[in-house]
Amino acid sequence: MRPYEPRKVEEKWQKVWEERGAFRPRGRGKKVYVLEMFPYPSGRIHMGHVRNYTIGDAVARYLRMKGYDVLHPMGWDAFGLPAENAAVKRGIHPAKWTRENIDQMKRQLKLLGFSYDWEREIATCDPEYYRWNQWIFLKMLQKGVAYRKEATVNWCPHDETVLANEQVIEGKCWRCGTPVVQKRVPSWFLKITDYAERLLKDLEKLEGRWPERVILQQRNWIGRSEGALIRFPVEDTEVEVFTTRPDTVFGATFLVLAPEHPLTLELARKGGKEAEVREFLERVRRRSTRERALTEEKEGVFLGVYGENPVNGRRIPVWTADYVLYEYGTGAIMAVPAHDRRDWEFAKKYGLDIVPVVLPEGGWDFEKGAYEGRGKLTNSGRFTGMDSEDAKREITRWLEEEGLGEFRVSYRLRDWNISRQRYWGTPIPVVYCERCGTVPVPEDQLPVVLPRDAEFTGRGNPLSASDQFVKTSCPRCKGPARRETDTMDTFFDSSWYFLRFCDPRNDREPFSKDAVKRWMPVDIYIGGIEHAVLHLLYARFFQKFLKDLGLVDEEEPFVRLITQGMVLKRWVSVGRLLEFLGLSEEDRVEDLIKKLREVKL
Ligand SMILES: [Zn+2]
Ligand SMILES: [Zn+2]
Repeated sequence: MRPYEPRKVEEKWQKVWEERGAFRPRGRGKKVYVLEMFPYPSGRIHMGHVRNYTIGDAVARYLRMKGYDVLHPMGWDAFGLPAENAAVKRGIHPAKWTRENIDQMKRQLKLLGFSYDWEREIATCDPEYYRWNQWIFLKMLQKGVAYRKEATVNWCPHDETVLANEQVIEGKCWRCGTPVVQKRVPSWFLKITDYAERLLKDLEKLEGRWPERVILQQRNWIGRSEGALIRFPVEDTEVEVFTTRPDTVFGATFLVLAPEHPLTLELARKGGKEAEVREFLERVRRRSTRERALTEEKEGVFLGVYGENPVNGRRIPVWTADYVLYEYGTGAIMAVPAHDRRDWEFAKKYGLDIVPVVLPEGGWDFEKGAYEGRGKLTNSGRFTGMDSEDAKREITRWLEEEGLGEFRVSYRLRDWNISRQRYWGTPIPVVYCERCGTVPVPEDQLPVVLPRDAEFTGRGNPLSASDQFVKTSCPRCKGPARRETDTMDTFFDSSWYFLRFCDPRNDREPFSKDAVKRWMPVDIYIGGIEHAVLHLLYARFFQKFLKDLGLVDEEEPFVRLITQGMVLKRWVSVGRLLEFLGLSEEDRVEDLIKKLREVKL
């Protein structure tokens, strides 16, 4: 038997493929778009990449041989923290570090013989790419989808950067593991919540084509719930609460405002409790949102004022407490200790009234805990005796008639904070002028390019320290102005790169309509399950936004999604091969290639 000599055979054919442009699509005939989630250029390909790309490559080659016109591109998700950390630690400029890593990884991918059309290669850190991030951002600004507000944010003291909720894992920074604290900073947000209903509804279209687990995770992340918005008079103002249990409103015995609620301090002042409340707010600030949500020992302070339960006129005390989060609902709750475990614990701790209004058959001992289930209403005026499910609807209707509240849909999904106080990302194309205020950079002045002169000390944002970058003139009045120094969350970059692959060298627009008409949607998308709610939700949101602009035709970008764990149950080859070779996923490609050369077939 003749031995297989990969060096001879593969080198020869890889050269032939390259010379002939063997993997360049023809541009006619029935199309297929096969895409693997593009890598972060960390330096080296590991076995996790190889597994992912091997699946995509097998599919692409198979379909090519079946006569399809296959688009199978590759690129680099090239902005992000590790490059900046390398700059701090080793004094290498992030651009240089990233470029070297890309070269190295590209060489490895080529060695593996994957059938990519390398002529379409993109790197998100190239101004030719990120200028279109800026362009999309400006469109979002025009449409009111991008906006700026001061916000309580998760702050990593180590990286000195704001983290999205999904980047906080068990109270710690997803990158470096440092405990996260709370901080107020002006930030740019994207109004993904405006798209909540569409993002939820269109999951139906993906059923049977996306893993059920991913669909479920997205559904939970969006977290739609129906309930009522109810207004409680307090002093000379009103406190709005959202509840999914309007059937229990007669049992509301106190109100709780989140510490960050604008009325908290104001009411405390009226109640003569300002000093006490201020001290409490300071304590809360040192704890993360997640820690607060999970904490068992609830803490609060009475604001010294009373409100009125609008349905029965009951006089009820107003509190602030750490277990109520400003980011959720209206940032205030009606506490119904008889029917909510957390309210019950709080009421027990502080000696507040517990009034049962829903009773299960056989009764309930409210000294032992809250009853959160269904039952018959009691102590509820004209609704007494009604089934609690019917009462949800009936009480909401009655609140509407009386002008005390209304039906409301609420989502768990929050707007997306895209501001990062870092260098290695897309500059947000906005300037601040003393005379004109916040001014968008005109489209014909894009890209706003990252300055080369930045210094990487590991403290603060290098962009803020770069005069060359910060000092500019106002596009409107030509007077002196200051550039925004926040850069975009890198998830912005990856939210539309699949569209850029359709038309990667276009320098007049992010992509042409014709090109996306030809290639979109992505027919088979392959990647890790860890992206179920981050990248995959943001990409769907961008697709919908771009559809509203008339730039793309489809509502959904990815027809079929393959997540790795799932595939390996059926496709044993890659896993078996690794097992056979005694390799783990962390092993380097060099090791694999070396071992493959030793194998006697
Ligand atoms: Zn960190
Ligand atoms: Zn101006």
